[in-house]
Amino acid sequence: MDLAVETLMIRRNQGLNCLNNFDILPFLDQKVDGETYYRIQNSTLSFGFCGLNEMLLALFGEGIENPDANKFGIKCLEYINARAKALQEETGLRWSVLQTPAESTAYRFATLDKEQFGEKAILQGDNGANYYTNSSHVPVNSDISFADKVKIEGQYHKLTPGGHIFHAFMGESYSDPDALMSLTNKIARKSDIGFWAYSSAFSFCLNCKTLMKGLSNKCPSCGETADVEWYDRITGYVQQVGHAKSANGGWNAGKRQELIDRRRFEQ
Ligand SMILES: [Zn+2]
Repeated sequence: MDLAVETLMIRRNQGLNCLNNFDILPFLDQKVDGETYYRIQNSTLSFGFCGLNEMLLALFGEGIENPDANKFGIKCLEYINARAKALQEETGLRWSVLQTPAESTAYRFATLDKEQFGEKAILQGDNGANYYTNSSHVPVNSDISFADKVKIEGQYHKLTPGGHIFHAFMGESYSDPDALMSLTNKIARKSDIGFWAYSSAFSFCLNCKTLMKGLSNKCPSCGETADVEWYDRITGYVQQVGHAKSANGGWNAGKRQELIDRRRFEQ
């Protein structure tokens, strides 16, 4: 056997033994009702991915919105699913494919690739705040229609059975409930989207506690400019961006750039 392959196999087996023996997971090794709390055979091991769109751009000069490039993207995901299935048979464990949240990864991978490959790296963002489009999403600043975004991303939901999300970043105007219901019916009945979320950005004045729709730099009530916090969905959940002067924590530079780049749909 090739030495490198053998070494890899030994390492992998050591890894699985480690998990099985719980040498590194003492808390999860505790007994509950006579049974070990964490049983690896009951858990799922998953493949996630980041930057499919940029990979297609690098290979074909066209991103996921292009039908031919998209076909290759689908093929890649079919390959990963086949690998997960083979591993399932080989190991007896559950393997799956999912869209990981990648809040940090999308920024970290882009930053590392920028450092290593400079201008050759195909990334989103600029001015030192780069990021990859997460998983099989359409880039956030794409000008395709809402219906086309639903169609493209829906093709990948059946290929990410471990978890997926379609983001509908809505415009800053008031969302009409009837229009939202009609849109919901269309997505639920006529698309392959498995899970989706409507998101609107909000701003909050820390000085006078005024809540505003959209990303605002100035409070209309008291005129505050420095301490206006922003909120929007970072991946699956809504979180403060860290825009306000006295904010404690917030999004990384790549995610902030993505927030600025996000194109929002008007109903
Ligand atoms: Zn205010």
